[in-house]
Amino acid sequence: MTVIFRNGLVLTMDDERRVLPGADVLVVDGRIAGIGYGLTAPDGAEEIDASGGIVMPGMIDTHRHMWQTAMRGYGADWTLTQYFVWYYLESGRHFRPEDVYAGNLLSAIEALDSGVTTTVDWSHGLQTVQHADAAVDALEAVPGRFVLAYGNIQQGPWEWSTSAEFRDFHRRRIDGGRLAGFQLAFDVTGDPAFPERAAFETARELGVPVTTHAGVWGATNDDGIRLMYDNGFMTPGTVYVHAATLSADSYHRIAATGGSVSVSTESEQSAGQGYPPTWQLRKYGIPVSLSMDTSVWWSGDLFSAMRTTLGADRSREHLEAHAGKQTVTNHHLRADHVVDWATRGGARSLGMDSEVGSLTVGKQADVVLLKNDASPVMFPILNPYGHVAFQAQRGDVHTVLVGGRVVKRDGRLVDADLASARAKVQATVDHLRETMGEEAWLRGMNPDIPEAQLFDNPYQYTQWDAGSAEWKH
Ligand SMILES: [Zn+2]
Repeated sequence: MTVIFRNGLVLTMDDERRVLPGADVLVVDGRIAGIGYGLTAPDGAEEIDASGGIVMPGMIDTHRHMWQTAMRGYGADWTLTQYFVWYYLESGRHFRPEDVYAGNLLSAIEALDSGVTTTVDWSHGLQTVQHADAAVDALEAVPGRFVLAYGNIQQGPWEWSTSAEFRDFHRRRIDGGRLAGFQLAFDVTGDPAFPERAAFETARELGVPVTTHAGVWGATNDDGIRLMYDNGFMTPGTVYVHAATLSADSYHRIAATGGSVSVSTESEQSAGQGYPPTWQLRKYGIPVSLSMDTSVWWSGDLFSAMRTTLGADRSREHLEAHAGKQTVTNHHLRADHVVDWATRGGARSLGMDSEVGSLTVGKQADVVLLKNDASPVMFPILNPYGHVAFQAQRGDVHTVLVGGRVVKRDGRLVDADLASARAKVQATVDHLRETMGEEAWLRGMNPDIPEAQLFDNPYQYTQWDAGSAEWKH
């Protein structure tokens, strides 16, 4: 299929950071065949009028628990502790393979709809390989790029990663399969016996990267990083998710060994893993990608990730300066940095930079057009990076291509069976609600509110004297 975007503001995100107003992008046989002015399209090419819009690479999310999208928004008021209790201890085991399928399907469709063309499915609800098969079935049913990060919170990683069923699954579904990649997903608790060694060895043997929640307050810390380092498992390609509560020593180890950090600012701000770490990471030269983590709390779109990351980084910089009686006059973190993290940063983190992440001739045609003529927010476009980070939103995603295939056109998904996804997700919700019971269901969604302590206010009148019609002190 041949497609040509005409007359768009092209944000290439290439090495030269070329921004080309009023340019064309030509897609032939799934790849970018030309970027420039007045390009000639072959006969039969689909012409897409990109005028008034921004043409950019598809975005990349490096950490999303897609199975949890079936519970969209349920945990809006949770802390990390409540999340752990609900998924790890109490209700996660109630998810059947078809529930993993339902969540993954909805999440995969949602990713494409919001211009995220590559997503890492951080799939830690794979209690059995039947669950894993269901996860892959769903990802393969949607024409995006998906990396399966295989995990299982119901077992130690040294158990599931060494099982015959897991190896069989890998042979059947991953080797020569249709997924964009495969990772092992598990956390390192800091147990000095380092039981996670077996899982790292499996990853090494399979030649696949490890992705791990690191620097999560109360869960994982510097001990895990030190154990990984001392045992030689901090390799390039390792993805450290959050990395929000780590010491300088750990950041140095990450920087020195070629890993990257997947920052989920919206998550870190609400859940309590630690302060979103980009204000630290940039001092150590650690590569960053962005992620949304889970839609059980928040959104699944990278516009929110870019926006909250800029805000959190700048907020911290101002606070630190004020504490030292200083004023920040120039921000370190710029809009173009977060757009880079949402595109190139993800591609580099996943070792896919030669194929995706920028609009470059020869690369895969994962292309997003932001355009919404009905929106007062889409003009004027003066600062394209700022526009993407602070002005645009998922409703402005007009057209999406994955490998040259049009998966969203004119603001509408192409061939996405939303009715089927809705029915499957509803069945999952019904199943969980019934299994948990109504009381537990409601309790899970509505955690206790701590008692609020009001300060004594010295300026409050104590008494209204109706006779004299005045306040008495
Ligand atoms: Zn996570």
